[in-house]
Amino acid sequence: MSDFFRSVVGWQIQSGRHGLPWQGSHDPYRVWLSEIMLQQTQVSAVRAYYERFLDRFPTLEALAAAPEQVVMALWSGLGYYRRARHLHRCAQVLVAQRHGQFPRTSEELQQLPGIGPSTAAAIAAFCFGERISIMDGNVQRVLSRWLAFDRDLAQAPAAKTLWAHAQALIPKDASHPQMVAYTQGLMDLGATVCRRTKPHCVACPVQHPCQAFNQGRLADFPVKRRVLKRRTEAWWLLVLRRPDGRLWLEPRPSTGIWAGLHAFPVLPDADQAGMGPEGALAQAPIWHEPIAHDLTHRGLQLHLVEWSVAMQHERSGGCWIDPAGDIGLGLPAPLRRWIRQRSGHPPKASGLSGA
Ligand code: SF4
Repeated sequence: MSDFFRSVVGWQIQSGRHGLPWQGSHDPYRVWLSEIMLQQTQVSAVRAYYERFLDRFPTLEALAAAPEQVVMALWSGLGYYRRARHLHRCAQVLVAQRHGQFPRTSEELQQLPGIGPSTAAAIAAFCFGERISIMDGNVQRVLSRWLAFDRDLAQAPAAKTLWAHAQALIPKDASHPQMVAYTQGLMDLGATVCRRTKPHCVACPVQHPCQAFNQGRLADFPVKRRVLKRRTEAWWLLVLRRPDGRLWLEPRPSTGIWAGLHAFPVLPDADQAGMGPEGALAQAPIWHEPIAHDLTHRGLQLHLVEWSVAMQHERSGGCWIDPAGDIGLGLPAPLRRWIRQRSGHPPKASGLSGA
């Protein structure tokens, strides 16, 4: 057994994270749900969502049968909404094509919607004891430091080579319980010890043979040279408010930014926003402070332009929501925050007055 593997397993059992709500289960539904939620998201943010999701959808079948709008509403605030749409789609595929059973190998798991290689590895290792290494950003950081791996991980061949090194560290006779502790140990090490900034090397179980530590080059790894090309777009959002305070929301298209969520209607430009809707109660709108909102590859400047309209104002294809009540809709995080700040209440579930 490699020293690295043995050290990580022993350290996880002694000092790793225990008692997280998704730990200790070999149920692929629960493991899959937690792994998807934990992508790009802190454990502290995921806990409450995970438990709420399981309360509402205790089984894969329950999730598959739910309307997408309900799934998106429960995901609202967790961000990266493509995850929720894939999650729902994946549940439907599993129920329709595999009698609600997850495949048992990482290779087959990767064929499902929204399950990438590292997530597939985590499910296969945790639930079925497959000898396969996870390789998310945290694990790339740990291993690239430990090996002083100086190739650019933004390039697929280099990432593949690092994964091959990771695979070689797993002994051929690793048992299912060892694979569970090892997989969790890698996650814990990356999240709590080998952190992006200020790694806590004195507490690291693999410090002794760590190349980056020995060479005093912690900041040199991981190497990732890809520069994201970001562009910024201005979006003009029409906020319609009735005298009873209700606001108008419409579903976003099924692809693109905020797909599957509800939002204020998006207008092509400032001129359109300034013209206002028919039957507006005021001569001019309220031009709110723009909100900067960063997505992975682009930045948005959200200009919210608010018009007061009559109670009888006619629109179709959306709904009037009570900003101080519960909202049964998924909203993009910046709009959810904006509404919450103005209502004094977090928007949650139900409270539609028409669609
Ligand atoms: S010794 Fe430090 S740099 Fe090396 S793996 Fe451990 S925490 Fe990371």
